[in-house]
Amino acid sequence: MRHRVVILGAGFGGLELATTLSETLGDEIDVTLIDKSDAFVFGYSKLDVMFGRTSPEAVRLPYRELAKPGLRFLRQTVTAIDPGAKRVTTDDDVHEADTLVIALGADYDLDATPGLAEGGNEFYSVAGAARLAEVLPTFTRGHVIIGVCGAPFKCPPAPSEAALLLHDHLVSRGIREDCEISFVIPFGTPVPPSPETSRALTTAFAERDIAFVPGRRVSSLDPARRVAVLDDGNELAYDLFLGVPKHRAPEVVLASGMAEDDYIPVDTETLQTWFPGVYAVGDVATVGVPKAGVFAEGAARIVAAAVVAAVRGGPQPGSYDGLGSCYIEFGSGRIGRFDADFLSGPVPTGTFHEPSTALVAEKQQFGASRRSRWFGG
Ligand SMILES: Cc1cc2nc3c(=O)[nH]c(=O)nc-3n(C[C@H](O)[C@H](O)[C@H](O)COP(=O)(O)OP(=O)(O)OC[C@H]3O[C@@H](n4cnc5c(N)ncnc54)[C@H](O)[C@@H]3O)c2cc1C
Repeated sequence: MRHRVVILGAGFGGLELATTLSETLGDEIDVTLIDKSDAFVFGYSKLDVMFGRTSPEAVRLPYRELAKPGLRFLRQTVTAIDPGAKRVTTDDDVHEADTLVIALGADYDLDATPGLAEGGNEFYSVAGAARLAEVLPTFTRGHVIIGVCGAPFKCPPAPSEAALLLHDHLVSRGIREDCEISFVIPFGTPVPPSPETSRALTTAFAERDIAFVPGRRVSSLDPARRVAVLDDGNELAYDLFLGVPKHRAPEVVLASGMAEDDYIPVDTETLQTWFPGVYAVGDVATVGVPKAGVFAEGAARIVAAAVVAAVRGGPQPGSYDGLGSCYIEFGSGRIGRFDADFLSGPVPTGTFHEPSTALVAEKQQFGASRRSRWFGG
């Protein structure tokens, strides 16, 4: 019988893993990729949707276009995971695996922040970004807070990007002087592993009169009084609240008993969970790297190499390296880049590349190359 790999979640990690396995082993194995959605959307596309640079329809990459040797995509919702038996139940079927990979990402827990669902607007989902694309053009004056409601959260630079792009949006409509922008984040700096990136961002905030409130988390909103309550009890009045909700692993993962502190602990070198033959990659896992697509992708390549070694024999893969490059929108049509190394030394290190228009083209190429590799065409 062919080796059966079941991958839960067709996001950044799941798509990279399925593609690498198909490229390397083709019909030699039997890969089942399961996702509840019918399309993939890059995380950064949510900012494009929110600021009206594109539509929610235009950023969808439909899974029906996935056609690869040895790969079967199933649109199903995972309802239970038995990691000991490597058995998965969905709303439609039961799947048995020889290798099981959890790549279900991180979900948003809006209820963890009282008042957020009623009084705020999250911009971390496509639906939230699409709603904001309608709300923002109607906003004409007052105080906008961009507030982070819990850490860890996906793509740590994203709320900084949102603040800078919001500035551009208000300038382009000629109403920047009628508006204030504040940015609340639980870290001491915008991107703690990179002092250079953080310095560039705080300089950009200062140049644009964006009030930076570091080291604070938004713990609740009082929609009636239009007030954001911070974790030190201080209050900030707002007219429009744009929030990054608290994250956690999807409910089905928490119910499986695999999670600890909201995520699945894994061996940092192999991405294997406590259960033999069961791996977790990407945002759903605790690995010591930020929750971002580039890191999910790197982790997926290590798991792919382990599957190839299991099927064909041969050497086990090297350790997961925790390397990744993050593109950061600085507004004014410029993008910077941070090349990070999270695991090789005692502390994360990296190199910051100044914002430029050349990096705008490079980021487009980053997306286009994934799109053609995963979906073809
Ligand atoms: C605003 C924003 C900007 C970002 N910018 C960047 C960036 O510039 N660069 C970067 O690298 N990263 C960026 N990210 C982060 C990036 O999107 C995520 O870190 C990345 O997608 C994580 O990949 P993953 O495979 O772990 O999970 P995901 O890509 O989230 O995929 C998880 C999949 O699991 C599926 N799923 C969940 N539960 C179930 C279930 N019960 N049954 C079936 N399927 C299920 C989901 O439908 C989803 O398709 C950004 C994120 C946001 C929100």
